[in-house]
Amino acid sequence: MENTHNTIIIGSGPAGLTAALYAARAELQPLVIAGLTPGGQLMLTTEVENFPGFPDGIQGPDLMANMTKQVERFGTKLINEDVVSVDFSVRPFVVKIASAEFLTKTVIITTGAEANWLQLPNEQRLRGKGVSACATCDGFFFKDKEVVVIGGGDSAMEEANFLTKFATHVTVVHRRDEFKASKIMLKRAQDNPKISFVTNVTVTDVLGENNVEGIRVKHNDTGEETEIKANGYFAAIGHTPATKIFKDAGVETNDKGYIIPKEFTMTNIEGVFVAGDVHDHRYRQAVTAAGEGCKAALDVEKYLADKE
Ligand code: NDP
Repeated sequence: MENTHNTIIIGSGPAGLTAALYAARAELQPLVIAGLTPGGQLMLTTEVENFPGFPDGIQGPDLMANMTKQVERFGTKLINEDVVSVDFSVRPFVVKIASAEFLTKTVIITTGAEANWLQLPNEQRLRGKGVSACATCDGFFFKDKEVVVIGGGDSAMEEANFLTKFATHVTVVHRRDEFKASKIMLKRAQDNPKISFVTNVTVTDVLGENNVEGIRVKHNDTGEETEIKANGYFAAIGHTPATKIFKDAGVETNDKGYIIPKEFTMTNIEGVFVAGDVHDHRYRQAVTAAGEGCKAALDVEKYLADKE
């Protein structure tokens, strides 16, 4: 069919743009539906020091701008809109945005994952006013202030340690006495004189009128309620993958919503591929996402060649 794309890449983080780069250089003329806020999670970070090839580090948004420029150089078209639905029950597949629909032989899903929130009464109201889910993005605003970090995993330890660069004191607040975090990350936080721990509590709300002034916690055994003073509140309780529309279209996911690759990068639906944080809850790195984007594009190339 004339108007049928070889491949549509949904998402524009490192996974999506690397997939686009490889697909474009394989002359598949990929279409990237980049989303209303393109670039993925790196758009929310400052300095990236662990993406190989940048000995002095690079700002997250600059890295994404470079990747975009690189795919455009090979003729890739990007559309900065969200996909509203997909139909994988027909061939070619249908991918819809608000203003148009596209037909395609293959799809690469690279929609990534977003931070989770505690769903407290005042949490969202105070977002940007002291409430954040990204220490690397917002840590700088808490110079000489006190902050709390919620969670007991590696993210919480990493965020807490990072925040001590700016904050005078960081309190890690966790719902259990045991920690999910790896021993080394936990020890680093425990050894940091600027970090203290409050455990076995449930956070019941974020306090403050116009800015965060603290949190209220309830002890899980005694029920005693106390307040912890803080100017900043960082949620570090995991992420949720952006998979709803794909699940609705029959793509298999695990109990946390992450897409399950079946054969290399192909999902349970033949012709639908996946790369990056939308299936990877373990590594979640720009470089691993980029590597997977490469793999998915190579798999698409082979799949199309085998079909034709
Ligand atoms: P995790 O799922 O590992 O940890 C989430 C933490 O948040 C847990 O301690 C959990 O508590 C707590 N939590 C979850 N929901 C709630 C809630 N509603 N209320 C209160 N607390 C809650 O997520 P992470 O983001 O920390 O890590 C994800 C993955 O990324 C892991 O595999 C981790 O190892 C990896 N990672 C690695 C890093 C590194 O090596 N540099 C850095 C950051 C992450 P509970 O323990 O009770 O379940």
